[in-house]
Amino acid sequence: MISRNRSGFTLVEMFIAVVIIGMLAGIAIPKFGNLSEQAKTQSCRHNMRSLAGALQMYYASTGHYPHANEGHRWRKFSAIEEYLQNWEQLKCPSCDTHYRYRITGRDYDNFSIRGWNRNCLNNHGMYVNGMPNW
Ligand SMILES: [Zn+2]
Repeated sequence: MISRNRSGFTLVEMFIAVVIIGMLAGIAIPKFGNLSEQAKTQSCRHNMRSLAGALQMYYASTGHYPHANEGHRWRKFSAIEEYLQNWEQLKCPSCDTHYRYRITGRDYDNFSIRGWNRNCLNNHGMYVNGMPNW
C-alpha cells in the first residue's frame, strides 16, 4: 500500500494560488487608483468651497467683495487673509497650485474661483458666479 504523506502545498497548488492572487490584485489596484483620484477631486472642491465661504464672509461684513470695482482680473486670495488664515496652504492636491478668484457681474456683486492650472480646471471644476459648476 502506498501511503501518501502530504504536508504543505504542491508546486501546482502554489502556482494556482499565485495566479488567483494576481488576478485579484489586477482588479483591486485600478480601483484604488481611481479612489485616490476621486479623493483628490473631493479635496480640491472642498478647498474651493472654503475659499467661496471666505469671500462670502468678506462680503457679509464689508458689503463688497475684495478689490471689487478694480476690474475683473483673476486675483490671489491674499485680500481675504482675515477671513481664511490658511488660504496660502490651500492648493489643488493634484497639481499643487493655488486658487484665484475673479469678481464678476456688472455690479461686481459675484465671484468665480478656479485652480490656477488647466488640469485642475478641467478635472475639478470651478465656481462660476458664486456656484460650483460640478
Ligand atoms: Zn484641483
